[in-house]
Amino acid sequence: MPTCLPTVLRRCHACASERFRANGKFRVNANHKLLDAWLLVLCTACGDTAKLTVLERMNVRSVRPELLDRMHDNDPGLAAELLQDPVVRRRNRIALDWDGAWRLDTGGSDHLDREVIDVSVRFAARIPVRPVRLIAEGCGLSRAEVERLITEGKLVSAVRLSGKLSGDFTFTLKR
Ligand SMILES: [Zn+2]
Repeated sequence: MPTCLPTVLRRCHACASERFRANGKFRVNANHKLLDAWLLVLCTACGDTAKLTVLERMNVRSVRPELLDRMHDNDPGLAAELLQDPVVRRRNRIALDWDGAWRLDTGGSDHLDREVIDVSVRFAARIPVRPVRLIAEGCGLSRAEVERLITEGKLVSAVRLSGKLSGDFTFTLKR
């Protein structure tokens, strides 16, 4: 689950750094009946502000009032939702860095001494992580041990456990 907003990767025009942070602030501009709205992000190196386009010349009537309210209230939850929206990311040519912005909640440690466990992993946000890392952390193993259990067929899943995942999956672990 996310613990804070992810870092936004985008080149800064002022200092050439590539890391920005959203502080949950929005800017809304109305021109006659047309609305523009941006999510503001700040360069982590020089503090320069960049604007990520949320709405572009939208007719006021076609914008949900609830969305406008949330932007006027600088709703941090809305900033999180928008950053996770692939359309917003593509339109603004940004990527996200989730390092240090999420945590694993295992719901206790009862599972640690069982011989066989079936685990389902649920993502509260689409955060790309290595399943090997999640399983190691959640089961109190080293990553090398997890790799070995996969090789020995004692750790099985319907999904590929190498590489990264950002969606729900299940696995079975036999010790
Ligand atoms: Zn900068």
